[in-house]
Amino acid sequence: MTPTLALERLMLHPRYDELVAAMRAAAPVHVVDQSDAATSDALRVVTAAGAAIPGGSDVQTTAADGVPGWLRLGLLDAFTTWVEGRASTCRHNPHPSRPQPVMAAAWRPGLIVCTACVYLTALARGSDADRTCDGCGRLCAGPEHADGIYPGMLQLGPIVYQYGVCGDCRPAITPRNGPLSATQTAEQDQPRGTGRVKPRGSRGRGRGKGHQR
Ligand SMILES: [Zn+2]
Ligand SMILES: [Zn+2]
Repeated sequence: MTPTLALERLMLHPRYDELVAAMRAAAPVHVVDQSDAATSDALRVVTAAGAAIPGGSDVQTTAADGVPGWLRLGLLDAFTTWVEGRASTCRHNPHPSRPQPVMAAAWRPGLIVCTACVYLTALARGSDADRTCDGCGRLCAGPEHADGIYPGMLQLGPIVYQYGVCGDCRPAITPRNGPLSATQTAEQDQPRGTGRVKPRGSRGRGRGKGHQR
């Protein structure tokens, strides 16, 4: 079983909450504190994005079984790829041993960047990649044909997983008590990965490197 599937099975286990509580109790306090801080920062990113995007939803709390499998596995795959040191990163080299909020994107598997470098996940507007659904892989005709992409985000701990889907693949997020937070937009064609998500103090503007407006 791959680490991603093992983690998924763990998170779907009815006693997952007890396990997390036991792990927190066993971990050094400073590690738990740092990890909690990174989690709250990541949650702020998702909350700010939901508020900034027209038609964006409030953040919903959910659990592993409250989101579709393709989305859950994408997030967990990004997470395990990073934790195992197999991810490409931005030049700030975010590392799980130094918890900080990080961004991943369904359309850039294997890439983990800090929040200042979220522009590295941007897609050229209107390109085929920008119009491709991360759920079913379909190339959408575009918002002018009422067939655009709806962006969304899913957060677990320090990691914020961005995705964009066609109208048919918009995930049903079931509210649950759990470690996941989700936001999505009701409007098509909002830019994804273009730095609309900008937590306070973020850098990355003005260098002109790959920043798409
Ligand atoms: Zn960076
Ligand atoms: Zn789709």
